[in-house]
This record gives sequence, C-alpha cells and structure tokens, in this order.
Amino acid sequence: EKNSLTLLGLGAMGTALARTWLAAGHPLTVWNRTPARAASLAAEGAKVADSAAAAVTANALVVVCLLDDASVEGALAGTDLAGRDLVNLTTSTPAQARARAEWARERGARYLDGGIMAVPPMIGVPESGGYVFYSGSRELFERHRETLVVPAGTVYVGRDAGFAALYDMALLSAMYGMFAGAAHAFALIRKEDIDPASLAPLLADWLAAMAPAVHRTADQLRSGDYTQGVVSNLAMQVAGTPAFLSTAEQQGVSTELLSPYFELMRRRLAEGSGEEDLTGVIDLLVR
Ligand code: NDP
Repeated sequence: EKNSLTLLGLGAMGTALARTWLAAGHPLTVWNRTPARAASLAAEGAKVADSAAAAVTANALVVVCLLDDASVEGALAGTDLAGRDLVNLTTSTPAQARARAEWARERGARYLDGGIMAVPPMIGVPESGGYVFYSGSRELFERHRETLVVPAGTVYVGRDAGFAALYDMALLSAMYGMFAGAAHAFALIRKEDIDPASLAPLLADWLAAMAPAVHRTADQLRSGDYTQGVVSNLAMQVAGTPAFLSTAEQQGVSTELLSPYFELMRRRLAEGSGEEDLTGVIDLLVR
C-alpha cells in the first residue's frame, strides 16, 4: 500500500508530478483553481477535491506546486493545516521560503521547501538527471522520502527552509551566465557565412570541458589561497581582454554582456592579484 497524498496546483509542473504518483500507485487527491485542468487526471485515477480546504483535509502529506508564493498564500488561506506535512514546490526566494515555513509552523504544520531542478518532461524520467532540492524539516523529508522520490531525485540541503530556494537560484544564476556567454558566441558569427549548427556542438563540448573548473574555485575559496592550482592567472587573462572587445567590435557585436565581467577582472587585478585565479571576483561581488 503506497502512501496517499494531496497535490495543489495542476499547471504544467503539477500535472507532470501528479502523473508520476498516480502511475506509481499512490492514492492522490488533487485540487486546481481552474477545475477543468483536473479532468484528465481524474480519468487516470486521481480524486478531485472541490476546494483547497477539502484537499488539505484529505491527506497528511500536502504538496503544493503553484505559480508563486502569493498564489500559495491565496490557495492555502482558509485551509486547516494543523498536523499536516506541507511540501512547497513553488519557486520562491529564500526569504519567502523562510517566511512560509514560519507561517506553516504557526498553523501547526511541518514544512519542507523544494526547488525543482527540472522541466516538466524530465519529471518521472530518472535518466533525465532532474531532481528537487529540499530544505526545512528533516523529519518530514525522511518520513516521506519514498513518496518524494517518485517524480524526481531528491537532494536535501539543510534545515534552513530558505536553502532549497538559494541552491536553486545559485544554479539557475550560473545557467544564465552560461546562456549569456553562448549568446555572445553566436552573435560573433552571426554576420559570417558560418552555420550556427556547426558552432553549437563545439560550444556545448567547450562549456562542458570548462565546467569542472568550479571545483578548483571551491577549493580556493575553502583554503583562501586563490593562487592554488592556478592554470591561467588573472594578469594574463586581463591582458587578453582587449582582444575579445576588439573582436566583438570588428564583428559588429555589442560588448554589454562581456564587459561587466572583464571590469571585475580588471578591478581585482588593480588590487595586486595578478598571480591569482579568477576567484577573487567573487569577493568583489559579495558586499
Ligand atoms: P503553470 O503556469 O503551468 O501553472 C500555474 C499553476 O498555479 C496553475 O495550477 C494555476 O492555476 C495556479 N495558480 C496561479 N495563480 C494562482 C492563484 N492565485 N491561486 C491559486 N492557484 C493559482 O506553472 P508550472 O506548473 O509550470 O509551475 C509551477 C511551479 O513550478 C512554479 O513555481 C514554477 O516556477 C515551478 N517550476 C516550473 C518549471 C517549468 O519548467 N514549468 C521548472 C521548475 C520549477 P490555474 O490552472 O487556475 O491557472
């Protein structure tokens, strides 16, 4: 007998989550603000509650996957959370997650926050590599682990309810930096007779080859010695930056994505850190 649970929110993500629990044989009660979205899940065996309050009453484990923190507040207002195990998979900021944890505690619920590192097609597909960061109540996480692991892998990152959101934002921020770099790379070849499809595999492989450098960064941050294991020192890298800026200019490409990072590199060099790796840039960012 699989554990039963409630899911509030049947958007693209909620629907994907629901399908995996139903397919795995977990009795599932669902609710969505727009009832029509529950119809296909009902046909797959979900019980459809006619209010959020009724859905929350139906099971001890209540998973929420709504648009944003405000919609969580709206949907759960007027529900009785006493004794519930509330798992909030709605994307939020660390501060929102901490406030929501406190809000849940005041209402007698245990609280676990989640940050989903997957898009809907990756849900229920273990080989996709998708997973969910969890933080908050360790007891809740352990108790429901077998249920939580059904849609995607689980990575528990601490009792601080804000940490799942923080890790989520950290990874996605790095992703945007990568996308920004790739955008500049494609822009450079845009006016040439070069097929973007010939650049793409080279770019993907290069980014993958460079990605493990983050381990060296971490080692340097831990030791405080930013020259540790340095491969390409800051002085050399700053000396190379004019070539990147000139190339962009020659190709008719704006340097607005590249320049801010180069500016930080130059500032760090000006502090006398020429022998270091790029790690010192982090200290310039942290205020
Ligand atoms: P959708 O836009 O597809 O669905 C939004 C859901 O929120 C719907 O169920 C909608 O109900 C509900 N909703 C919105 N406002 C309210 C409200 N005021 N009161 C009650 N319900 C409300 O979003 P997703 O399902 O894609 O995303 C859900 C969460 O998952 C988000 O926090 C998102 O950041 C996160 N996520 C999504 C990913 C993705 O790729 N889709 C990836 C990782 C995380 P209704 O049907 O009535 O409009």
